[in-house]
Amino acid sequence: MDITEAHDDTFGIEVILEEGSKTAPCCPHGPTLLFEKVGKGGEKGRRFYACSACRDRKDCKFFQWEDDKVSEARLLAREAENKSKGPPYSQQEYCNRFRKFSSLRVDEKKFCQDCQTLLLPTEHEAHSSHGTSYVTAAQLRRPSVLLRPLHNKKSNAQYLFTDRSAHFLIDTLAGLGYKKVLCVGTPRLHELIKQRNLEPKNEPMKSLLLDIDFRYAQFYSRDEFCHYNMFNHHFFGGEASSGVLQTFLSDSDGEKVVMVADPPFGGLVKPLANSFSLMSQLWKKLQSPDSSNSDLSMMWIFPYFFEPRILECLPSLTMLDYQVDYDNHPLYKHGKTGRKQSPVRVFTNISPKDVVLPKEEGYRFCSACQRFVLSLNKHCAKCNVCPSKDGREWKHCSTCQKCVKPSWRHCQACGRCALPDHPCGQSEGKQGCFNCGSLEHKRKACHVKEQHRNNSQRLKTKGKGKNLSKRPTIKPKGKRKSGAARRAKKMAALSV
Ligand code: SAH
Ligand code: ZN
Ligand code: ZN
Ligand code: ZN
Ligand code: ZN
Repeated sequence: MDITEAHDDTFGIEVILEEGSKTAPCCPHGPTLLFEKVGKGGEKGRRFYACSACRDRKDCKFFQWEDDKVSEARLLAREAENKSKGPPYSQQEYCNRFRKFSSLRVDEKKFCQDCQTLLLPTEHEAHSSHGTSYVTAAQLRRPSVLLRPLHNKKSNAQYLFTDRSAHFLIDTLAGLGYKKVLCVGTPRLHELIKQRNLEPKNEPMKSLLLDIDFRYAQFYSRDEFCHYNMFNHHFFGGEASSGVLQTFLSDSDGEKVVMVADPPFGGLVKPLANSFSLMSQLWKKLQSPDSSNSDLSMMWIFPYFFEPRILECLPSLTMLDYQVDYDNHPLYKHGKTGRKQSPVRVFTNISPKDVVLPKEEGYRFCSACQRFVLSLNKHCAKCNVCPSKDGREWKHCSTCQKCVKPSWRHCQACGRCALPDHPCGQSEGKQGCFNCGSLEHKRKACHVKEQHRNNSQRLKTKGKGKNLSKRPTIKPKGKRKSGAARRAKKMAALSV
């Protein structure tokens, strides 16, 4: 991972989300985000714009200091480059192509694996030296199986739900009476909802897919897919495209809608939360006045160790114990090579007691907590919660007065529970305040006025000196494991 977030006192980079600032320059992924390097003692660093979607400069090299004067020529070149990185066809052209493709004879329906494109007969010649295959009607309905998952480790690795997890989500939502599902970065869910509609016994559900991977535009009509960036809430198709979302969210049919998002795990929580809030605000605006004080129902799928960060940004969410697993992730697959327990959970504002987790997969209802939990997640009478986050049975430490991971031991020197081999005596307090540099307190307790920080998010980069050249380079301080560093380590394990 290149940039990992931290919400704690770490020297690093933060993203500045200012409302109404529409002046951000655009990279091929839409408006960029404004970042700020924060130095020791809290002095303000120079601000810069960088890509919202790509955490690795190899994937998007956009960089601009906030105060840079950009020449007209440079702007034009940039615009041309942005355009060249976009989809080869307009949404309308994609739709026409799909219509033509669907009406082809079985022996004319070809897909180019090298170009990841459905081919029309006039194009076969040009792709004759590429790897191509015939596409059946059934395959055409499963684009997430046909398309090669993107394997970009840093920002856009595509991890597809197992049937088990996808059906759990769909059945749960159908059971709760949702008739419309807004699929944000969940192409497999989208296609399985459409598949489910084909069975006459099921009441149909509508689904709209929003995704940055425009290969999916080949398979769907205009009102089923929008090319969208969830880190800056950007619709690449402009108003025509955001209008599709508006229509979908509007209340005209009185059907309950829910958003399900499964962002790339390396993504920054704050911009994601911001986009999902905007989505909720838009939804509210489109509701009849009597229902406008409720929130858009949502499920945000993300690793459990981001819980504090997510709840900080969206306090109305709760984390469910359900373990989401993936077909093509080496760590989450059940079986010998994979680790048994996926760290990925569902964060939702749907009441947890209504989300029934399957008994046959080892979940039970805790009546004290009023939610379904893993059986191993035993209720602690002292904490009055089912405390486990990672699926293992946690144990209560009477000195810390809370439940901790089973592998932790109470350390007298540090005055808290930690792994037995923790760097003893170097507990977090030693690092002092990030804002004023004092060793007496942490940043959160600092009274020295901080500016521009209220609405911003702190990030940390792992110093990668050479690559960043004269761009801000921030090395993690010392050997201390902050919350961010721990998450970075876990994230590194995820992006195998
Ligand atoms: N589990 C999901 C797939 C999740 S993988 C399923 O089975 O349906 C993450 C998804 O988010 C991918 O489809 C990817 O294309 C999409 N994505 C990645 N970055 C994005 C961005 N910036 N904006 C919108 N979608 C993005
Ligand atoms: Zn970009
Ligand atoms: Zn080809
Ligand atoms: Zn306890
Ligand atoms: Zn303890």
